[in-house]
Amino acid sequence: MSIQSERLVPTVDFWAWRSLGACQEHPIELFFHSEDTPRGQRRRNEREAVSICGDCPVLQTCRDHALSTGERYGVWGGLTENQRLRILSRSRSLVSVDDVERRAGERHPISAGIFASDLAGSSD
Ligand code: SF4
Repeated sequence: MSIQSERLVPTVDFWAWRSLGACQEHPIELFFHSEDTPRGQRRRNEREAVSICGDCPVLQTCRDHALSTGERYGVWGGLTENQRLRILSRSRSLVSVDDVERRAGERHPISAGIFASDLAGSSD
């Protein structure tokens, strides 16, 4: 196995937190929409998913993962796709595979202070 392909194989430890997620008990369609999901339904699903995330014991880990890796799709850590896009575009943080591996398990540096400035009154 080459060094490059070793980097692309997630370890059990890297993903272990996901099995503790509150989303495990809910339909995945609430967290990830398809192309043909009507806009209104998508927004309702996102609101419900964000609400579920609010009671999740691994919310911060999930959020840090999503921000650190630039997850583009779905609700992660109580943040919608658009919310993460706004946060990341503002931070202008480009990440590499090395960054992802180094940051795995760490708190994303901009994750701590985003609620007050970025999420007030916004769910999209
Ligand atoms: S924060 Fe949300 S998306 Fe992440 S594991 Fe918890 S319930 Fe699932």
